[in-house]
Amino acid sequence: MLSKNASIILILLAPSLLRGETGLIMLTRFDRPPDTVAIESMQEEAAGLFSDAGLTFSWRQDVPSNGLLAGVPPVWVQFHGNCRLDPAVVPTGGPMATTSVSDGRIRPIVNVDCDRTAAVVWQIRSTLPAPLVTRAFGRALGRVLAHELYHYLTQSAIHTESELFSKAMDGRRLTAPNVRFEPGEIEALRKGVAELAAIRVRT
Ligand SMILES: [Zn+2]
Repeated sequence: MLSKNASIILILLAPSLLRGETGLIMLTRFDRPPDTVAIESMQEEAAGLFSDAGLTFSWRQDVPSNGLLAGVPPVWVQFHGNCRLDPAVVPTGGPMATTSVSDGRIRPIVNVDCDRTAAVVWQIRSTLPAPLVTRAFGRALGRVLAHELYHYLTQSAIHTESELFSKAMDGRRLTAPNVRFEPGEIEALRKGVAELAAIRVRT
């Protein structure tokens, strides 16, 4: 007997499965959410970056932990701080996001530092009009998330010098147009996604 939530999840997954894609449920929580434009831009960026790897996303905000189907591994994403562009916030050193590790495995639990990411984008805004800066911020959040998802999906903790998997994700890499995963990275992601899909089939 399927719970109501289980039925909903299966319905969401079905079209993706028919296309040979794997659907990943992203459970997001914000201390202070960004503008809708930034959220849309983040989701568009993530969708574009992972489409070649056969991965699609279903986004849910503030879903209680007991509302999920056991055995399905969603990704939990907590956005800390103020997810808005604030001229008063000064960039500080340190990572813009981290992914949890336990028992030697990289877990689908991502923590994003919104203040730090927003400050980096604000710093390189140049003369862009405000709506475009907001979209660029959303794109940056999508890429920060993509970097952490790459850690999780490939179980790789060692960075490279690529645009999206470098340790030094600066403002340009976060906002420049047409940044993509490299062919070798897409290959590694496809393997990780296939393993994820196998978990789903057994569920
Ligand atoms: Zn990293």
